[in-house]
Amino acid sequence: MQNCAIVGINWGDEGKGRMVDLLTQDFDVVVRYQGGGNAGHTVINDYGKFALHLLPSGIFRPGVVNILGNGVALDPENLWKEMEEVAGKGVPLSPDNLKISDRASLLMPWHRDLDGLEEARLKDKKFGSTKQGIAPFYSDKYQKKTVLAGELLHPAHLREHLRDLLEWKNLTLTKVYGAPAVTMADLETWLETYCEKIKPYICDTGAFLRQAQNEGKKILFEAQLGALRDLDYGIHPYTTSSNAIAAYAPVGSGLPSAKLDAVVGVVKAYSSCVGEGPFTCEMFGAEADALREAGAEYGAKTGRPRRVGPLDIVATRYGVQVQGATNIALTKLDVLSYMDQIPVCAHYRLDGEITDEFPFPAQLADAEPVLEYKEGWKCDISGVRTWEELPQAARDYVLYVEQQIGCHIGYVSVGPERDSIILR
Ligand code: GDP
Repeated sequence: MQNCAIVGINWGDEGKGRMVDLLTQDFDVVVRYQGGGNAGHTVINDYGKFALHLLPSGIFRPGVVNILGNGVALDPENLWKEMEEVAGKGVPLSPDNLKISDRASLLMPWHRDLDGLEEARLKDKKFGSTKQGIAPFYSDKYQKKTVLAGELLHPAHLREHLRDLLEWKNLTLTKVYGAPAVTMADLETWLETYCEKIKPYICDTGAFLRQAQNEGKKILFEAQLGALRDLDYGIHPYTTSSNAIAAYAPVGSGLPSAKLDAVVGVVKAYSSCVGEGPFTCEMFGAEADALREAGAEYGAKTGRPRRVGPLDIVATRYGVQVQGATNIALTKLDVLSYMDQIPVCAHYRLDGEITDEFPFPAQLADAEPVLEYKEGWKCDISGVRTWEELPQAARDYVLYVEQQIGCHIGYVSVGPERDSIILR
């Protein structure tokens, strides 16, 4: 398995960080290929507990080269703060193990401002943005109104480009939203405080990846969020603004010619969702509170309580299909141990008909869950390390999910720690 993508099958927060942290032992390079600091991958290892937002989760492994690809929303401020935090806990960080694509666009200070201004304008119709500037950033990227990280290495050109962008962006800030204008002095401070710090890490990562590929190195492509948040295939418009699917990995990483040998899809043993939008399998009341508590479902970036529900077979099967998953990691099975009976959303009911097809986004709000109940195992499985040791009811649950979603479940995770894993 030379090239492998690790992706979310659902709404994000499936436990991808934990799986990348585990799998990096078999890879030489880890590349983040899309998204920005708007979600967090939680990783627990010998260095401590981390919520990584931008840094690839391979950063903790000696000898692994970590790359922030051209598809990423590169926020110098967030990145530098995260680098300081990680380095502060003793993780070695240098241009040898962290490389930033010179073709990655920079998320500007005004992108975060615009996110907040637009959510405020939308009032009760807001999308539930994390206000990290991701949507304004990607809009500007597609308008070619962003600065590439590599431009930081060409100061004269950079200043001229920034002045042009500033003039344009201030029209929106001041005339559309009535917000204060950004000045060149503000940008100089931003350049000095954050951009200068990340400059030594910027290089032609495309050339590095091509060479790595020629040398037969193993490359892991790390996604953020999940299939249902993909800009093209997700629950539009409650998606993110980039392509979270595996098919985008070669493009966003800097190795467009790469063929993926494997796609590991991460599925949580139940569902969670952050922000607004239809969430068919959502549970409410005491039942939801119990699951949220058991699974500690609070946003890694925002601390917001996540919406929760049973595993959604219809959405998960769709996620597996759009990701082209070849293997599934089922995480947080241990969280369900308290349940007498485990609910699953086995089908949807739409317009009076039972369906197994994931609906068109505009119809999603009308879909209702059709629940089934599976037998619980009612014992602590967090210490289990082999398939045979798992209680029969837990194995039956895994086999049911595998059969329904049509993809082999090769990993069953029973705890957040690196070794809390069962291989099948
Ligand atoms: P990601 O963005 O997909 O990496 O997901 P998050 O990091 O937001 O959420 C996963 C959370 O679940 C983190 O707090 C992990 O430490 C934790 N976690 C991951 N796998 C397991 C597991 O198998 N069991 C338990 N109890 N927690 C897990």
